[in-house]
Amino acid sequence: MRILRLNKSGFPIAWLSREEAVTLYVKDRVVWSLGDDSSTMVGGINCKGERTSVSLSSIIAVDGTAKKNSFVPALSNRLLFRRDDHRCLYCGLAFDDHVLTRDHIIPKVQGGADSWTNVITACARCNHHKGGRTPEQAGMELLAIPFAPNAFEFMYLANRQIRGDQMEYLQARFSGQRQWLAA
Ligand SMILES: [Zn+2]
Repeated sequence: MRILRLNKSGFPIAWLSREEAVTLYVKDRVVWSLGDDSSTMVGGINCKGERTSVSLSSIIAVDGTAKKNSFVPALSNRLLFRRDDHRCLYCGLAFDDHVLTRDHIIPKVQGGADSWTNVITACARCNHHKGGRTPEQAGMELLAIPFAPNAFEFMYLANRQIRGDQMEYLQARFSGQRQWLAA
């Protein structure tokens, strides 16, 4: 179980371990929180000889994080395949990740960029058939438009075990370009 860390304005920053979240609580850096209390962490013994505990929320906003105006999610095959629901966007079939490939719509040999909006998930067979051509040149059709995930979508793609309350927070801010199934 991970805790979703936001900045003060509600922009997602990272998934934290419970230990990392406790450290922020102890340092009094958590300015507000959302979601259900996900767990209670037992701390040390305080001056009255009582064992202290910290109640962790599933979503916490932490101060001291610079506001980000632009967000560029790192491109990786793991997140790309998840963005495209582990389906080849040429033939539409679903595959295991190890047989999927990253296809450059405008091929690199033709100057295509290695960026979210120029890459899609393709099966090895379709990728091989397309070769160094554009879909148009190869007579192939894209089943969906590639897009760069926003920060909320990126957080969703980066974590396979998202709680319902965290999903609700993120999903309300999705761009609506894909209808992902709940994790
Ligand atoms: Zn295919």
